[in-house]
Amino acid sequence: MAITTTLVTRPEIKDTSYLRAALKGMKITLKHMLNPKKITQQYPEVETRLHPRWRGTHRMEVHEDGRPKCVACGLCPTVCPANCIRLVGGEDDQGNRYPIVYEIDEFRCIFCGMCQEVCPVEAIHVGQDFENAEYSRERFVYDLDRLMHQDHPTTLLWDPSDPTSE
Ligand code: SF4
Ligand code: SF4
Repeated sequence: MAITTTLVTRPEIKDTSYLRAALKGMKITLKHMLNPKKITQQYPEVETRLHPRWRGTHRMEVHEDGRPKCVACGLCPTVCPANCIRLVGGEDDQGNRYPIVYEIDEFRCIFCGMCQEVCPVEAIHVGQDFENAEYSRERFVYDLDRLMHQDHPTTLLWDPSDPTSE
């Protein structure tokens, strides 16, 4: 195999001027200061505004008596493209189905929102929450109890009649 060499030339002084770079940066800063449309969100001091269709950590809706709304139909684990929902369904004496195990691995989830779209009883939702940092991978697997105790707002599904949801 032929060996090739590349000659690297030292850049001209006019191309490496710090003063020029600093002035260029200040020009951009000034431009953004004068443009009222651009804002800097002072996170975390000021609460972050998320778009109503922003998709983050899940939550499971509950009945008034504290039971999960999920009826263990199996649709969400079937449709989930990341295969990150684990469901073990059960049935009570009256024949009502319920989840014995319901887990979502938020680390594998791609937040597509399909579980929310497909759920026939509007039990599982993606939500407007992103402050879910953890120190271990295991903590990202949310069990049913943890999903039921999430209290952040749920995400608005896409509506073709209002495509931007503004
Ligand atoms: S948001 Fe998408 S990837 Fe995440 S659990 Fe739901 S269906 Fe699976
Ligand atoms: S689609 Fe809804 S009801 Fe069916 S298993 Fe998932 S969360 Fe439960």
